[in-house]
Amino acid sequence: MRDFAAELEDRKQSGLYRTRRLISGPQQPELVSDGVPLLCFCSNDYLGLASHPDIIRAATDAMPYTGLGGAASHLICGHHQGHHQLEVRLAEFTRRSSALFFSTGYMANMGVISALAGRGDTIFSDRLNHASIIDGCILSRARVRRYPHGDMDTLADMLATTGGHKLVVTDGVFSMDGDIAPLKELAALCRAHDALLVVDDAHGVGVVGPQGRGTVAESGLSEEDVPVLIGTLGKAVGTSGAFVAGPALLMDYLVQKARTYIYTTAMPPALALATCTSLDLIERQDCRRSHLQSLIRDFRRQASLLGYELMPSRTPIQPIMIGDNWTALALSHALEQKGLMVTAIRPPTVPEGESRLRVTFSAAHSKADLETLLTALADCRHLLKGSSAEAV
Ligand SMILES: *Cc1c(COP(=O)(O)O)cnc(C)c1O
Repeated sequence: MRDFAAELEDRKQSGLYRTRRLISGPQQPELVSDGVPLLCFCSNDYLGLASHPDIIRAATDAMPYTGLGGAASHLICGHHQGHHQLEVRLAEFTRRSSALFFSTGYMANMGVISALAGRGDTIFSDRLNHASIIDGCILSRARVRRYPHGDMDTLADMLATTGGHKLVVTDGVFSMDGDIAPLKELAALCRAHDALLVVDDAHGVGVVGPQGRGTVAESGLSEEDVPVLIGTLGKAVGTSGAFVAGPALLMDYLVQKARTYIYTTAMPPALALATCTSLDLIERQDCRRSHLQSLIRDFRRQASLLGYELMPSRTPIQPIMIGDNWTALALSHALEQKGLMVTAIRPPTVPEGESRLRVTFSAAHSKADLETLLTALADCRHLLKGSSAEAV
């Protein structure tokens, strides 16, 4: 039998061992982690909606009428009026013809990619795409060609030299880097080479674009340009689940073929109704996005002055590039000693030698919270080995 214990020990020796924190209380910047209060800068609750009273009330108000459990899959007797209402609302929110509500983003990517490409087809995937996209590609049994991150010239060459059915898949906002995919260029290439474009906007929905409609809306791309738009609901939207939006024909096809849609129990319908309330808030409250942008701007200016290496991101994902696993961990631990929670992200989540602190911002952070983070970062600069920070 395989030596699982030795593998775990190996992980520990390489600074790659992972542990879970035990959180009590609601998700908000002031978190209680293993009984200790910490100011959190690593959540994906970008708009501060995970504990919003209106959304909680929508769920509890709905429950006496919908019950709690999903009880069955959508194709048996689980497809509830609440789910239908959310799908109509999501189609409207994304300006698409129709939408399909999935249980998680992971399942949406697995189901959509494996339904829309198969043996004999080719999938082109950005090298930094999310794990669920990578797994969806594997599950599809299609040939997978990964292109260097954001490299449109290489992708163009690959597309030009490949025949048959082609699918191009990309994150909208890259989850560990925070940068945005060159969507206009991708759409033009897909049009020129008759490829189907799939965009996973898990970190763009709610945050980027007019009224938070995401990166695809920000780029002014239509349903024809991006026929398959995926988004998650557990991040900025503050609830749970995911959606796929696009032409009715494709959604119908997915209902027939996406196994992660077909063979799973429907989500609680009250949660779908609470998500409708969240979408109302997202559309109406530009103030959340403008506050978030102001936090991001201030952080970037001041963290750079402190000598930290930031990445080209204008989204709430603002990683501090470190490189070495142990330094990233040391910095994360030092910040925790100062009452801050910022996770170190290490391989295999990011490429070897690119360990980083993944700092994320939420509209629920105050300017004072940002100052607390910056003060702690100023105090921790000495942990950066051989960095310019020593000279500052
Ligand atoms: C988080 C994430 C997912 C997974 O979504 P869940 O609803 O959390 O399963 C998919 N794609 C990307 C890019 C993500 O960041």
